[in-house]
Amino acid sequence: MVAPPAGGAVCSLTEWRGAPILVPHLGTLDAMDSIRSAELIAVGTELLLGEIVDTNTAYLARALADRGVDVYWSQRVGDNRGRITEAIDTALSRADLVLLCGGLGPTEDDLTREAIADAVGETPVVDAELERVLRERFGRLGRDMPNGNLKQAWLLPSAEALPNPAGTAPGWLVRTSFAGAPRLVAALPGPPRELTQMWNEQLVPRLVFPGAVFAAATLKTHGIGESHVGSALAGLTERANPSVATYAKRDGVHVRVAAKGASREAARAALEPVLREVERRLDGHVWGRDADELPTLVLQALRTQGLELAIVDGASGGALIDRLDEAGDDREGWPLTSAVIAWRDDAMAVLGAEMDAPASLDRDGADAQAIAAHLAETGRARCAADLCLALAPWRVNAMDGTPAGASWLSAWAIAGPNGTEARRVTLPELGHGWRRERVAFTALVALWTQLART
Ligand code: ATP
Ligand code: MG
Repeated sequence: MVAPPAGGAVCSLTEWRGAPILVPHLGTLDAMDSIRSAELIAVGTELLLGEIVDTNTAYLARALADRGVDVYWSQRVGDNRGRITEAIDTALSRADLVLLCGGLGPTEDDLTREAIADAVGETPVVDAELERVLRERFGRLGRDMPNGNLKQAWLLPSAEALPNPAGTAPGWLVRTSFAGAPRLVAALPGPPRELTQMWNEQLVPRLVFPGAVFAAATLKTHGIGESHVGSALAGLTERANPSVATYAKRDGVHVRVAAKGASREAARAALEPVLREVERRLDGHVWGRDADELPTLVLQALRTQGLELAIVDGASGGALIDRLDEAGDDREGWPLTSAVIAWRDDAMAVLGAEMDAPASLDRDGADAQAIAAHLAETGRARCAADLCLALAPWRVNAMDGTPAGASWLSAWAIAGPNGTEARRVTLPELGHGWRRERVAFTALVALWTQLART
């Protein structure tokens, strides 16, 4: 894992936990020369109360995954010595590297050092060199060092201090063992700026990683729910390498395929056939890959084809235009000519579209489609645009006669030189914000599909 420290005491934890514990790599850990698994522990009561978001764990988890280290568990624990010790005990039983963040400050509720000392059964002592550096730091700022800060100069016999250029709290790297197997415990300060700098500059150079490389690709889909994606990918999602995972996102279900290999080429070679298989099984539903964003693809297609677009939005409350506007901050060649956002039936009044909205709609939503088509055609003519995308105002669609069967019904239509295409959009009785998002996304998919066809 790492070279043993010269003359450093390494305490054995075999007898300390008593009961036998299942350790995945126990049989080979002695011969192991790199960290294969890690467990993260973020310390801080603020994290448990939801007052701050645990971005440190996300950062470290990603950094470890990138280096081929498996993370099977991560924990969050409050500023409580007993519970932090328990978290470290548990992590030591199942991971090569236990990586803690936070709780290294000078105050009484900064207890990470105490808990590590308890977990590895050692007593901290003030390290003369660390104390000198700390006092010098305070001296440079023209301040006396409060007594509480002295614990930032603590060290364990089997710990190495990790210098912190950005703050007063040095980190620790402790070499220990569990049931005869080598283990590392590392502690980094909580402030993200200090943590990232110390991870990269202090910890990474001291650790030996498996050297595995990841290759990953994400396919973005539309028109298919997560459970259907799951069924379509049956047999693939259970695999560990390459792994296939689905994520429901604002812009549809994403499928991430990730492969691990000894080199970049090996990882890519393992990835490609699985990626092609996923694409084949989701044929007709994939709209993009990796960093692709639907609004950007739509804008690009409009520019490339030299088309100008008008929008009549009676259903997304501006969300549709907002997505395109966000994606198009480069105003050069901006292909959106005009946009009308009108709530409910006012869209028709604004356009002067002469049509009575029916009081009730038929089961197929044909009326909603007719309204959308009428708006799109009127909008296209009034705005002198090549294409007009219209969203019909929402209707409650209680076709089944029961409140539980109620849903919302709208429709999109795209009017262009070759005619008008319209489809209904039915959504379950859910929040208004969610409906806005869904209908904007559905309309963008429709537009993109039509543009991709031509
Ligand atoms: P300090 O010396 O600043 O007290 P520390 O190592 O004791 O450092 P904490 O007291 O736990 O760290 O946290 C200090 C600050 O760092 C928090 O108030 C928060 O802003 C940020 N922080 C701590 N932990 C995390 C985390 N897991 N994710 C994101 N930010 C965090
Ligand atoms: Mg603190």
